[in-house]
Amino acid sequence: MFCDSFTTMSTDATLICIDCGEIFPFTAKDQDYFRDHNYSTPIRCRACRMKWRQQRATSESGCTDQQPAAQPKARGGSSVICSACGQEADVPFEPRPDRPVYCRSCYNARKAMQVS
Ligand SMILES: [Zn+2]
Ligand SMILES: [Zn+2]
Repeated sequence: MFCDSFTTMSTDATLICIDCGEIFPFTAKDQDYFRDHNYSTPIRCRACRMKWRQQRATSESGCTDQQPAAQPKARGGSSVICSACGQEADVPFEPRPDRPVYCRSCYNARKAMQVS
């Protein structure tokens, strides 16, 4: 009765969920279903399985459902390399090739120091 692994008949089993530690039934019907679909023995109870699946679904579709982060280059602005700190910066104007371009913080710092 308990060691009938040679028979194809399944018996109800109880498993312990690895997430919440609850004992949950793995019925003969479920076992047949899992075997038919080539699923491995469940390790989570139904509730945790649903939660897990939802989490996986959202993380997997995250890149397709959601828009990528806002474009770094705003309309009209230019991406420049700051002449002071060397960091890339976005400026709302066309940089002039004959003049140094500063990022916002360097620009503000220089402006505060009244350096031209
Ligand atoms: Zn659980
Ligand atoms: Zn800078």
